Amino acid sequence: MKRLICMIFALIFVLGCAGCSAREYSKSVFAMDTVMELKVWGADGETAISRLEDMLRGLEDRWSATRQDSVTALLNQGTVPSLTAEEEALLRQVEALSQRTQGAFDPKLGSVSRLWGFYDKQYRVPTAQQIQAALQQETWDLGAAMKGYAGQQAAKLLQELDVQCALLNLGGNIQTFGTKPDGQPWRVGIQNPFGGDYVGIVTLEGTASVVTSGSYQRYFEQEGKRYHHIMDGVTGYPADSGLVSVTVICRDGLTADALSTALFVMGLEEGTRFWRQSSDFEAVFILTDGSIYATEGANLSGCEFKEITRENENLGHFDQRFAAGMPGAEPVAVFG
Ligand code: AMP
Ligand code: MG
Repeated sequence: MKRLICMIFALIFVLGCAGCSAREYSKSVFAMDTVMELKVWGADGETAISRLEDMLRGLEDRWSATRQDSVTALLNQGTVPSLTAEEEALLRQVEALSQRTQGAFDPKLGSVSRLWGFYDKQYRVPTAQQIQAALQQETWDLGAAMKGYAGQQAAKLLQELDVQCALLNLGGNIQTFGTKPDGQPWRVGIQNPFGGDYVGIVTLEGTASVVTSGSYQRYFEQEGKRYHHIMDGVTGYPADSGLVSVTVICRDGLTADALSTALFVMGLEEGTRFWRQSSDFEAVFILTDGSIYATEGANLSGCEFKEITRENENLGHFDQRFAAGMPGAEPVAVFG
């Protein structure tokens, strides 16, 4: 009898576990010039990882800014490349995002980025004349949008497979699929731009993309001044909008990525106006003084911040209280 009870308990335990967590598959992949961490839960997990890897390499081959035979290179040579319907749709979406942001997201700033040395890592501060010349050239560079697009394509691919959920870290761009294996929402940490741990956590319902653009991600210093990789297409200089990072949360990865770059260029006030005219994303802004502002649907926790609502107006007027929130923020477990 005792043995029978033990067996029943063991069976309940196994069934219980099978119900609450699918098998986890994970892999680190180097693609698109960055390390990508792929984690997938579900019966087709292994297939999913291998198809995700192929998809990421495919995107890299087709859209690299530096490969001689990529679509980007062909467009820049003035050649009309043959495109799939999906690729045509991508370019249309990119153009639409550029127009929607009035050029704050500008996919044709390749000559400017190259001039500053961000392609070959031969960093230099160009002359005003060189910058003007580079601004005249329209050189495709989809670096501000492709990782987000990759996340979006990944979510589409996972939909076709027997996959319960997934968490993809595509070089700092987070793409989730479904909820956490235990059914809880994902919690994604926002990196502290000033070093160290995370400043806060955004909680996500289901499939979403979380993308951060920050001046701390790529930069060089010359004569005590820092020059980062996000360019203002009007001046041809690194955007100087009072921000150190912007995180965008959106269902659509490409939109998240393009808008994080655009909002970084716009700054807090213009970015807030832009958000108020939109309904498809949420954002967290971190200013150079350390203050944090989050739109009302961003689901931010773990730090002090000022909430941006559809109505409040006085955002240009920064309240010093909020600067205190960031350094003291609890170090948080990401994806916990
Ligand atoms: P992200 O990290 O997504 O903000 O993208 C930055 C990358 O996009 C840079 O490394 C450049 O390759 C490119 N880029 C720089 N400035 C812009 C801009 N204003 N609009 C679009 N792409 C940009
Ligand atoms: Mg971007």
